[in-house]
Amino acid sequence: MALSPAIFIGHGNPMNTLQSNRFTQAWRDIGNLYAKPRAVLMVSAHWYFGATAVTAMAKPRTIHDFYGFPQELFDFDYPAPGAPDFAEEVAEVVKPHWVGLDRDQWGLDHGAWSVLAHIYPQADVPVVQLSINALKPLAYHLELAAKLATLRERGVMIIGSGNVVHNLKRVQWDKPEAAFDWAERFDDAMVAQMRHAPADVLKLTEHADFDAAVPTPDHFIPLLYVAALAAAGEGHASAFAKGYAMGSISMTCYAAGDCAVASTQGAAAASLPGGVPPEQTNI
Ligand code: ZN
Repeated sequence: MALSPAIFIGHGNPMNTLQSNRFTQAWRDIGNLYAKPRAVLMVSAHWYFGATAVTAMAKPRTIHDFYGFPQELFDFDYPAPGAPDFAEEVAEVVKPHWVGLDRDQWGLDHGAWSVLAHIYPQADVPVVQLSINALKPLAYHLELAAKLATLRERGVMIIGSGNVVHNLKRVQWDKPEAAFDWAERFDDAMVAQMRHAPADVLKLTEHADFDAAVPTPDHFIPLLYVAALAAAGEGHASAFAKGYAMGSISMTCYAAGDCAVASTQGAAAASLPGGVPPEQTNI
C-alpha cells in the first residue's frame, strides 16, 4: 500500500504566506502532486511547550504569533476545519505515550498556516496540530513519530514545519539567498544523513556546526518527526527546495522517500520587514 506523504517544510518567515517565490512554489507542488489526504497532522516549531497535546477543536482559530509584521499578515485567516475524531485517533496510536486533547486553547499557529496556505490554499483539508513537548529529550520525539507511522497507511499526511538551520541572532540582511559557511555545512550534512540513514539523525547533534545551526531545539525537532517516519517507511528521505534565507536560516525541505517536486526557479524567500530585531519576531 502506498504511504501518504511525510514532509518537512523549512518555513522561514511568515511573509512567505503572502508571497510567491521558489520555496512557496515547491510547497504548492506538494499539494498538487499528491492525492488530497483525509487530514493533515502538523508538527509546528511554534507550538513548543511543556506537554504533548493535539488540537481537538472543530474550528481551530488562526493564531498570529509574531511581532513586527504588516497588518495584512495579522488579518490573514486560514479557516481549515479541525478533526476532533482524528485527534482522538492520534492519542490512541501513540499509546503508551500520553497525548492530551486540547479542545479550546491552541489552534493553527503561523508555522502551520504559513505553509498550508500554499499546500492547500482552499483550506479544505482538516488539520490537527501536535505540540512539541519541550520537556522531553530529542529521542522521545523519534519514538513518538515512529508510533505515528501507521497513520500514513490511513490517508493522513504528516508535516513537520520548522527550519533545520535557524539562528535569528546571526541573520544577515545582505545575504537574502546565501548562507554562512557553517549553515551550509550543517544543511549539507543533514541532506546526506536523511538520504542515507534518517534513523541516525541524532548523530548530527555531534556535528561541529550543530550549536550554531540549532541554538534552540524548537525549529529542529519537527525534522525529527519526518526522519523517524522515513526510517519506519521508505528508509530514506529526499531534500527538495534546498536553499537559504538571510545567512542563518535554511529553507531546505524534505520528503520521506523520493520526491518529485522540481521547483528550482523563482524569487528568494521572503525577507524580514525592518523595525524589530530578528530574535524578537518569534519567526
Ligand atoms: Zn518559525
